[in-house]
Amino acid sequence: MENIKIQKYEDLLLKNGLKRTGARLQVLDVLSNRNSATSQPYLENIIGKAIDRVTLYRILKTFEEKGIIHRILDNQGTANYAICSNSCTAHNHHDEHVHFNCNNCLKVYCLAETKIPPLKMPAGFEVYSMNLIVSGICKDCKQHTN
Ligand SMILES: [Zn+2]
Ligand SMILES: [Zn+2]
Ligand SMILES: [Zn+2]
Repeated sequence: MENIKIQKYEDLLLKNGLKRTGARLQVLDVLSNRNSATSQPYLENIIGKAIDRVTLYRILKTFEEKGIIHRILDNQGTANYAICSNSCTAHNHHDEHVHFNCNNCLKVYCLAETKIPPLKMPAGFEVYSMNLIVSGICKDCKQHTN
């Protein structure tokens, strides 16, 4: 891991009142270095040997509660995790962007610039969170099939 990145992860942990542990830094590093959300099986595969499953699960849960990462269920029902924007805080996520699930590579992308349009809710319904999964073919896969 590069020092400048470690510094960034440490600041993020500190800001959220979390102790610096090697496992937490590692999870942040994996999630930050990918252009798509990271599935739980993928995470287990690449860091599951260094960190046991229970610890990994707790780290993900804590990060989600702190507003550091958000969880996206893909079309197969698999949990995927992505780093949040700076506007997310503990128990107050603002990830109202579209998630794109590619039918070919199965990756889940955060389309941060594509916001979920405001929904007109019937009277009496209060919205706490919104999820919108769009399926299709991602840019990378489309380029390779053309
Ligand atoms: Zn968030
Ligand atoms: Zn794809
Ligand atoms: Zn997202």
